[in-house]
Amino acid sequence: MLSPAEIAHFDALLRARRRELELELARQGDSLAAVRAARSGGDADDEHDPEGPTLSAEWSLRAGVHGELAAALTAIDAALTRIRDGGYGRCLRCGEPIGFDRLAARPAAELCIDCARAL
Ligand SMILES: [Zn+2]
Repeated sequence: MLSPAEIAHFDALLRARRRELELELARQGDSLAAVRAARSGGDADDEHDPEGPTLSAEWSLRAGVHGELAAALTAIDAALTRIRDGGYGRCLRCGEPIGFDRLAARPAAELCIDCARAL
């Protein structure tokens, strides 16, 4: 199992990563709003085709990135909750320790390497 010092290390790591993601999400939110404004604004001609191909593709791309960031943030929040509850570092599927090296690579990992491969 992880030592208290190791858990504190991952706690700090996850919190730092969380701040980065929040900043990135805020930037993405701004650009999403800009795309939205570009789509809904404009003259009468645009209103016939509010989802023009260029803006639509731009929207999909940004919305996709936004979704990935949001998912990563959710995973980090879940990991921070497990740290508080004392379950951090244990596989959610089999209950075995996830392993320091795997957590070092993926601090928000929920599964041990065996379970991750099995799924
Ligand atoms: Zn497992």
